[in-house]
Amino acid sequence: MAVELTDSTLYLDGVSVSFDGFKALNELSLVLAKGEMRAIIGPNGAGKTTMMDVITGKTRPDKGDIYFEGSIDLTKHDEAAIAQLGIGRKFQKPTVFETQTVFDNLELALKANRSVITSLFWNRSNEAQKRIDDILEITRLGDHAGQLAGSLSHGQKQWLEIGMLLAQDPKLLLVDEPAAGMTDDETAETAKLLKDIAKSHAVVVVEHDMTFVRDLGVRVTVLHEGSVLAEGSLDTVSANERVIEVYLGR
Ligand code: ADP
Ligand code: MG
Repeated sequence: MAVELTDSTLYLDGVSVSFDGFKALNELSLVLAKGEMRAIIGPNGAGKTTMMDVITGKTRPDKGDIYFEGSIDLTKHDEAAIAQLGIGRKFQKPTVFETQTVFDNLELALKANRSVITSLFWNRSNEAQKRIDDILEITRLGDHAGQLAGSLSHGQKQWLEIGMLLAQDPKLLLVDEPAAGMTDDETAETAKLLKDIAKSHAVVVVEHDMTFVRDLGVRVTVLHEGSVLAEGSLDTVSANERVIEVYLGR
């Protein structure tokens, strides 16, 4: 356990959360290795979003340990502090500024990043420009920089929001159902985009789309009734009798 903790980006052990006596998380334990990307699947109500809520400090666990980068006890920090520590979260619904251009949205996100604003880098506008160019490239929005965010497709808005998250320079990204409402092409592109991001960030992604999860090609954790039902490659967990019973075989 101790070795796993030291080498981990994220470490949850025995985490439980109850809402009016209902256990949304029940002794949940999960370890994300340094720089790992993990896919989380499981039926509706399994506790996937609640898991993100306890990591980001939105919900306090009743019990259990949550550590970031081996030594930071997240249960002792509030939501704002946890974001500051380098955990970025993308919610299902995009919240981009529709009447601003893609470029301006990214610039606003970059300016909101205190560590950038206070560094000398910010005064060198070409540094900021380069950061934005990098983010435009990774989010597939290079040809849309001058376009109003409101005129983007649903998928592009999701990518812009991921870009705004990247501007905050997080070490760990939590992404909840990014492919929801996307076309098949956008979904496939989103898997590629996240794989690009995962080269330099740890990522936890919740998603129902099995084609997407297969495209990611990462270790999968199956949640059910607030705990881990199975973990391993998609092929391994897909062959698990219990997983088929509660999730895949519906
Ligand atoms: P998932 O994201 O896997 O679909 P959730 O984490 O959203 O599941 O929800 C797990 C369970 O906890 C569900 O039964 C849900 O109704 C319940 N739940 C989640 N958040 C709250 C809350 N704030 N108050 C009461 N019940 C909640
Ligand atoms: Mg959810």
